[in-house]
Amino acid sequence: MRKPYEKPTIFKLHTGMMNKFGSFAYPLSRRVRTEIDSIPIKELVEKYGTPLFVFSEKTLRRKFREIKQAFTTRYPNVEFTWSYKTNYLDAICAILHDEGETAEVVSEFEYEKARRLGVPGNQIIFNGPYKPKSILKTAIKEGAKINIDTFEEITDIEEVAAELGIKPQVGIRLNMDTGIHPQWSRFGFNLESGQAFDAVKRITYGGQLELCGLHCHIGTFILEPKAYETEVKKMVEFAYRIEDEFGLKIEYIDVGGGFPSKNRLKGVYLPPEVAVPSIEEIADRICSALLSSLRPGDFPKLIIESGRAIVDEAGYLITQVHATKRLPDGRKGYILDAGVNILFTAFWYHFNIEIDRNVTGPSEPCILYGPLCMNIDVVDDLAYLPPLPRGTNLILSPVGAYNVTQWMQFIRYRPNVVLIGENGEVDLIREAETLEDIVNREHLPERLKLKED
Ligand SMILES: *Cc1c(COP(=O)(O)O)cnc(C)c1O
Repeated sequence: MRKPYEKPTIFKLHTGMMNKFGSFAYPLSRRVRTEIDSIPIKELVEKYGTPLFVFSEKTLRRKFREIKQAFTTRYPNVEFTWSYKTNYLDAICAILHDEGETAEVVSEFEYEKARRLGVPGNQIIFNGPYKPKSILKTAIKEGAKINIDTFEEITDIEEVAAELGIKPQVGIRLNMDTGIHPQWSRFGFNLESGQAFDAVKRITYGGQLELCGLHCHIGTFILEPKAYETEVKKMVEFAYRIEDEFGLKIEYIDVGGGFPSKNRLKGVYLPPEVAVPSIEEIADRICSALLSSLRPGDFPKLIIESGRAIVDEAGYLITQVHATKRLPDGRKGYILDAGVNILFTAFWYHFNIEIDRNVTGPSEPCILYGPLCMNIDVVDDLAYLPPLPRGTNLILSPVGAYNVTQWMQFIRYRPNVVLIGENGEVDLIREAETLEDIVNREHLPERLKLKED
């Protein structure tokens, strides 16, 4: 067969050093991946098609246990709670609940999903700025831990409590300056301005709720462990101030999540191995700050809401090269079958890109486009790859966090998701969508139906 003609281009080769695109020209062998947890990519693709999300149970459990160990060896009273919005596939949540995590939810949908999975209400932490009264009522009845976000929510909960004739325990969410910018001041009550203290006053004077917890979540993908130390010190200081002033007991200090995964953030040129602090370092800052600021003998529960750092590296996306084109600026463009519709985090990261076979030819700068008929559909504009024939599978990682929740049914159907179990079982944990899934909630008025003539 004759090869199609391709206009030659000249580019400089860089090997073993940083190229001008901020990535390394690895020897080819480092970039080939033929399996995930010993299951051949070929087998996965033949059975489930592409694009395909693949989760590793082994990695998921290992990442959770690393975090658990980092904290429980440093502080005696820790609760780990799974951030549903990071990845709320049943199978993923079930594994983490099996590891002992409670559920952290931020909407009625997530609350109901956790309950449906069998998580009791008293094992649920309910956060977020928007909690409709109907679900607040259910959550209060079922004993969930609610962290209040607004003054209106205080009133809502008081009304529900009065209706139910109970005095529920509640927490409040704080926001504060921890040196992280932009500051997430839109959630909860600001500490420095006195707003948080006003919220405490409002709750105690209301007399219908029992304040027993403080919550804060300073941001996401935090690369500065010191920010957590500042957060914890401010929370403990505030806890004692209100305990002393109002005779309350703060039973939990919930420091949120936001720990980074080993992903390469756009604009951060150091490789993740250098830029991302270890979980030990983060845990050390948090627990040392706690132990040095708590009063003797006082060990309130420390709550950790880590999402991304646990699940991101457990997820891969297999996507196939559909077509190739040479762009006017000389770069090569690839059209893949997965785009930003299912890979929301492509807006923030340069993923690791591995290919499923050895190919010959020099690597060159290229752009990876998704399948959407939209200019924004770019998976990576700084890839550096050898010439890939049509049908080559690319394995992108880490993609386990914030993709299978933030993906959109936009233009294409959402694909299969599989889980590789610890003993090499492969289970379909979410089936690819079909036309039926999408249209079965639509209603076409009778008068608009196409008539056959
Ligand atoms: C999203 C979220 C988390 C989890 O954040 P990660 O960055 O995934 O660790 C934890 N707590 C709250 C309140 C959140 O909104």
